[in-house]
Amino acid sequence: MKFSTFGKTNKRVSWLGMGGMRFEKEIPEKDCIALIRHTNELGINYFDTAPVYNEDRSEGIYGRAFKEMDRDHFFVATKGDNRKSAIDIEKTIERSLKRLNIQEIDFYFLWCIISRDEFIKSKMKGRSLEGIIRAKQRGLIRHIGVSTHVYSDDIKELVDSDMFEFIMMPYNALNFKQQELGLRHASDKNLGTVVMNPMYGGVIPLYNNQLEIYSNSNNEALEDALLFCLESPYIHVTLSGMNNREQVSQNVEIFRKAQKITEKEQIRKEHRIESGMTDLCTSCGYCLRHCPENINIKAYMEIYNTWQLSGSLEVTKERYNWYHQFGPLYGNKKYPSDCTECLACEEECTQYLKITDRLKWLDENM
Ligand code: SF4
Ligand code: SF4
Repeated sequence: MKFSTFGKTNKRVSWLGMGGMRFEKEIPEKDCIALIRHTNELGINYFDTAPVYNEDRSEGIYGRAFKEMDRDHFFVATKGDNRKSAIDIEKTIERSLKRLNIQEIDFYFLWCIISRDEFIKSKMKGRSLEGIIRAKQRGLIRHIGVSTHVYSDDIKELVDSDMFEFIMMPYNALNFKQQELGLRHASDKNLGTVVMNPMYGGVIPLYNNQLEIYSNSNNEALEDALLFCLESPYIHVTLSGMNNREQVSQNVEIFRKAQKITEKEQIRKEHRIESGMTDLCTSCGYCLRHCPENINIKAYMEIYNTWQLSGSLEVTKERYNWYHQFGPLYGNKKYPSDCTECLACEEECTQYLKITDRLKWLDENM
């Protein structure tokens, strides 16, 4: 099996980690539990979760799986919202420990820093970082890291703060430019590095047959995309949200093939990736809570992804109609034309997309 030393923590973590946000309600819980154990038996020892994943069920599902697993054979990573007070985040940590059925959390993330200001606030007296540090002093947490969606310059600031032993960021073959230098800086400074979203929020599997990560590659897009992260010399853990045995087998097969490459080879790979594929919506949904008009921005941006990937008005219209008739826009009463261009969504967009331009395009063309 393939393990890396996880930066300053010195723990040996598997290159592939299991993401815990795909345990949908429709999947019987016993199947999720069996899948977690099965994944661990296949050599994956890094399990990622967070309090709110899957309507707050993810930690509990993991906890029931962990009951029957050898604690020496897995690491648990969970998170706490950076906007919380110190007292609240300590309570969150205590609750996570109970739900996860463990005595100590291996890797605890200050969660979802999406701007420099948020980081500054989280360090203030009585705010989240103070609570996380106190929890570590109490022995509830082993190591502290940060998860973020900011670009490289701000990533460097997080790294250079010397407050974290590891860092997590979105990174994938279709969209790596904004975090690339930050990731390298983290690796140079010996931080553990975790990447989320290697499949670009499901976009890569969805367009597996249409996409080509490298021109003239013999591999499917999905395989090249996963290898892009797994083989990177800068990445210790690549998270993949897996919720069935087929996905686990597929990912583990790719994981077994992976070989770490040199920095030069990684840079060559990056150059081979065609330009123009770096600005897709990842369906993270962060924009949704900010729209005063309640426009389902995520769904409309997914339709726009289809336009970017297919270049076909016909295919995009089909998706637009399907979304309204059977998909996430069924019963929808708010359209791109309702956008007032307040820009609140663009300020929150984790991919820094020009959402208003895309809505306009949809309004004019769909
Ligand atoms: S710019 Fe438009 S879509 Fe974005 S939050 Fe404002 S009204 Fe909503
Ligand atoms: S538009 Fe941006 S914030 Fe909204 S779902 Fe897409 S990537 Fe996420």
